[in-house]
Amino acid sequence: MTDIRVRFAPSPTGYLHIGGARTALFNWLFARHNNGRFILRIEDTDRGRLKADSVEQIISSMKWLGLDWDEGPDVGGDYGPYFQSQRLDLYSKEIRRLLDEDKAYYCYCTQEELEQRRQQAIKEGKASRYDGRCRNLAVGEQQSLQKQGRKPVVRLKVPSEGVTVVEDVIRGTVTFDNALLDDFIIQKSDGMPTYNFVCAVDDHAMEISHVIRAEEHLSNTPKQLLVYQALGYDAPVFAHVPMILAPDRSKLSKRHGATSVEEFRDQGYLPEAIVNYLALLGWSPEGGQEMISMEECVKQFDLAKVSKNAAIYDTKKLTWL
Ligand code: GLU
Repeated sequence: MTDIRVRFAPSPTGYLHIGGARTALFNWLFARHNNGRFILRIEDTDRGRLKADSVEQIISSMKWLGLDWDEGPDVGGDYGPYFQSQRLDLYSKEIRRLLDEDKAYYCYCTQEELEQRRQQAIKEGKASRYDGRCRNLAVGEQQSLQKQGRKPVVRLKVPSEGVTVVEDVIRGTVTFDNALLDDFIIQKSDGMPTYNFVCAVDDHAMEISHVIRAEEHLSNTPKQLLVYQALGYDAPVFAHVPMILAPDRSKLSKRHGATSVEEFRDQGYLPEAIVNYLALLGWSPEGGQEMISMEECVKQFDLAKVSKNAAIYDTKKLTWL
């Protein structure tokens, strides 16, 4: 059997919210149940979205919940998380490889040009995907665009035919039509790689066996599979956990009560109560009990028992223990 290696990969954009904490917990339980390894990876390449102090908040919330990770750079005798911003050389190397192998290309189109052509395509009743204008630029054309001072992005060549199939442990087989996927951007004009690219590169580099994450990422998975294919990587197993909705099935927000681990801690809850509550958001143990210890969760945790349906967030079910 392959070694089980999982990761929690938050973007440092604020407190550790309930959804993120539940994802972290499911990954941690899966690792502990299988004697595997759990990794914390901070996805901080999108510099515009970063919020000061959020890394510290995420780390302190995880420690409070008891979700320890098993490897990472040494920080004073302890493991720190991996930071994607410190791994840029790896991403550049892989982008270079794709360019050299003609699996990716520089695109010089400006936002305005793209928007104009998109509007035109819509008028003509055509799909509004990127039209591939820069796919086959001659060297001379590239040079003249560079002379105009244009800073290119890098796009991945995506086949316009066929399908990309995601085999998901929770969702089953999900098929995406390639015609609906663009030649998407893997490196922005400021030189920073994009989420779908770095995520795939890191999951491979960190030998992640199972990607367990929120359902909202399911639509990113075909793009990541295309990156895997282009780079010649084997894909991990995917498991997308269901959304967490408010009791009225609307999107969860502040008006539904505390939504971050930090808030629960400030309100005086015990971490065991929060772990118990989070574990049962979308997963149920054998006996269907409502109070379950961390130890028992580790013993029983099974991805195959995670529900496909949205979990309902009802803080009335929370006890102080
Ligand atoms: N960084 C992403 C987020 O915070 C998670 C990506 C992933 O788990 O693949 O939503």
